[in-house]
Amino acid sequence: MKIELDLSRRADATPAQARSLAGMSLPALKAEMEALGLEPKKAGMRAKQLRRWIHHFGVQDFSGMTDVAKELRARLEETFILTRPEIADHQVSRDGTQKWLTRFGPGIEGESVFIPDVGKAGALCVSSQVGCTLNCTFCHTGTQKLVRNLTAQEIVAQVLIARDGLGEWPTSTENRKLTNIVFMGMGEPLYNLDNVAEAIDTISDGDGIAIGRRRITVSTAGVAPKIPELGHRTNAALAISLHATNDDLRNEIVPINRKYDLQMLFEAIRAYPDLGNSKRVTFEYVMLKGINDSLAEARDLVRLLKGVPSKINLIPFNPWPGSPYECSDWATIESFAEVLNRAGYASPIRTPRGRDILAACGQLRSESVKKSAAEKRREALSAGTE
Ligand code: SAH
Repeated sequence: MKIELDLSRRADATPAQARSLAGMSLPALKAEMEALGLEPKKAGMRAKQLRRWIHHFGVQDFSGMTDVAKELRARLEETFILTRPEIADHQVSRDGTQKWLTRFGPGIEGESVFIPDVGKAGALCVSSQVGCTLNCTFCHTGTQKLVRNLTAQEIVAQVLIARDGLGEWPTSTENRKLTNIVFMGMGEPLYNLDNVAEAIDTISDGDGIAIGRRRITVSTAGVAPKIPELGHRTNAALAISLHATNDDLRNEIVPINRKYDLQMLFEAIRAYPDLGNSKRVTFEYVMLKGINDSLAEARDLVRLLKGVPSKINLIPFNPWPGSPYECSDWATIESFAEVLNRAGYASPIRTPRGRDILAACGQLRSESVKKSAAEKRREALSAGTE
């Protein structure tokens, strides 16, 4: 017997099942308006109005959209919602760092972290994937298999949730708490570049969330062929998770190095557009006791970065349950930093933030697992019979 399920149920969607417009890019909003039957020109105009209400004012219902005709408002209300994905957990650290666990769908959960007093005022660290494929040996997220890429809308939703929590609507230009975005949460952003680029378009849009591209940083473990493309498509700042100064060690602790070695990585970095004094590459270097923290390696690091406009971030290793490393001693980190200081790199140590709530670099992980095809079919069947 052949069973066919129609899971779309678009026509009789009630608000509870309707899709949210929150976090949608301008082209996606326009496409939704066209799908409602509006002519392209009208659809473009309505999309712009919606963008302003949703991403500048942060509204979560349609009733306040005074410049949208009543009839259309009613249709929008029937068809869409403006709510964010569910917050499954929210924690605040002793140092003011906040962590949200967001449920993007059943069993699809990812983390975002707000860190006050970094960047211009405060930075939000967003996830681009649930889980990760890279398996860096010191990273907690690396112990979680990839569940799936986040959509552009889901990436933007993390920013909306933080703005809600910080009470930062409408978008203001002064005294913002959230001024910077770093793609340093779960996942490898360059393995999800289309969605990351679309999300950056939405986050940086001056008529919406308005966080400028220069204040958005994307961190990669070294997907070399995508690095120049990231720059051309997004204009974002680049961060590289370097962690080792020779291929032997990097092959071991950042296994993607076996595919793209240091030479390929640095060729790609040098091809990043617009590098200069006002646009430097951030090199992240985790301090692992007895592994990569010798003074000889500090000197190698200086040599390796020669000619690349750079900043260095030494990250004291953040332990997680079962982690196989220890953090370098403080004195070792300081002498390592001193070598870098003498070579002209200012304040290279990143203070760990939010360690008590497992919100620091490399501590993020969720319980989400990828479902098998059979599990998905079973779920679809039971949803169809409810
Ligand atoms: N996949 C991207 C995004 C993650 S960014 C990337 O690798 O760049 C998070 C940063 O924290 C990376 O530099 C990562 O290498 C670093 N990191 C991972 N685990 C860590 C840990 N336990 N302690 C300190 N830093 C860690």
